[in-house]
Amino acid sequence: MNNEVKNINQQQNFPSQGTGVFVVLGAGESGVGAALLWKQHGYNVFVSDAGKIADKYKKELQENGIEFEEGHHSEEKILSATEVMKSPGIPDKVELIKKIRAKNIPVISEIELAYRYKGDSKIVATTGTNGKSTTTSLIYHICKTAGLDCALVGNIGYSFAKQIAEAPKALYVAEISSFQLDDIKTFRPDIAILLNITEDHLDRYNYDIENYIKSKFRIIENQTAADYFIYNLDDELITAHLKSISFHSTPLPFSMKQEVTKGAYIKDNQMMIKAQEERVTMNIYDFVALKGKHNQYNTMAAGIAASVLDIRKEKIREAVQTFESLEHRMEFVATIRGVDFINDSKGTNLNSVWFALESMTKPTVLILGGVDKGNDYSMIEELVKEKVKAIVCLGLDNEKIINAFKDTVPITETTSMKDAVQAAYSLADKGDVVLLSPGCSSFDLFKNYMERGEQFKEQVKEL
Ligand code: ADP
Repeated sequence: MNNEVKNINQQQNFPSQGTGVFVVLGAGESGVGAALLWKQHGYNVFVSDAGKIADKYKKELQENGIEFEEGHHSEEKILSATEVMKSPGIPDKVELIKKIRAKNIPVISEIELAYRYKGDSKIVATTGTNGKSTTTSLIYHICKTAGLDCALVGNIGYSFAKQIAEAPKALYVAEISSFQLDDIKTFRPDIAILLNITEDHLDRYNYDIENYIKSKFRIIENQTAADYFIYNLDDELITAHLKSISFHSTPLPFSMKQEVTKGAYIKDNQMMIKAQEERVTMNIYDFVALKGKHNQYNTMAAGIAASVLDIRKEKIREAVQTFESLEHRMEFVATIRGVDFINDSKGTNLNSVWFALESMTKPTVLILGGVDKGNDYSMIEELVKEKVKAIVCLGLDNEKIINAFKDTVPITETTSMKDAVQAAYSLADKGDVVLLSPGCSSFDLFKNYMERGEQFKEQVKEL
């Protein structure tokens, strides 16, 4: 065994290589990444997926001599594991997970495993209900613009563990979901960002928002005085929870409602960022791709992180101005006979629909619906009254939407993107906007939000 690895194991008190089977449940991006990292460090790894494993992942496992199974779980073998890495998509209510926990077999997430082997590199970790991908990508773009040796990892599509196994860097810019945080033990980001907390995924947290809040806050549970905590001071759930806990890192809040001495705020359209000696100021009208209040929040968070990383203000400004917005997030598609079409297919909860509508400056035909994760539509009622001229439902079960808005605006029901786009177009006049911001998951009619967004764009082009 490599001495360095042995030392890490002893220091951190996690199992050493010769101690049985290390099981990875789920063979997607994070599962395969974890398997590769464990294997690289000499562990006996077994990967098990109850579904079918994608060919590219099978190939990676085979090429690395990692044993795997698909279509079922070999329970006996799994229940004899020394440690289990559970992919974030597998809920705790699954029988096998209950049995693993009942046997007190340690369960960790992929970011916990990645953390063990990150060496002395640094981590900027972003979590929150909405804006994770945008903020993480923006931080990464700022770091690249400043010439830092960094990688973009986590929920955004590249496994953190795989990155460490294959191409370690000095800095990891990580998008972290609450599912990844549920099974951490020692994970400690140097900079943690909590963007916002609103109801989402409550099905995974026994419909208890407190559980969801606690899960998000685990991002700071191992932080020390040497670390930083960047958070949204305007978010009531965050500030209320902060009053009930103690934490050790340096707080760096951001706000649009009040000035802060350290952190960031917006006043008279100027964004002020101050984490170190150097203060960064930016005019919010200079942001090309980062439009809307939600993106101003995201930019404050990213700007503070960049400032903590000692990136010069000129580089931060340059990067904010050259950032290109991500696909499916308030993405402008086309103007057809005076009607603008905007694709916000990633808007899968009502908070993101709220921000999408808030940024609308023209009468809007809203395409809404899909699989409801427990939405309370009263949250967008005021904005619908103010800005929406018609709703086109795109989903199999639209009852909640109809009940919420039948007395407010005309509603049309559709069950295909083609019908939805055509209906929305016929309801729109020159100077209006058609906005796809579904506020729901896509799984009733589409594979995922990306397919939904792609189909939207295709159908707009067909008009
Ligand atoms: P996540 O990775 O957390 O899902 P994304 O950056 O992919 O976040 O954005 C998801 C959706 O939320 C999009 O509809 C986007 O326009 C919206 N959004 C982005 N940032 C925020 C924010 N800070 N607050 C609310 N909604 C946001």
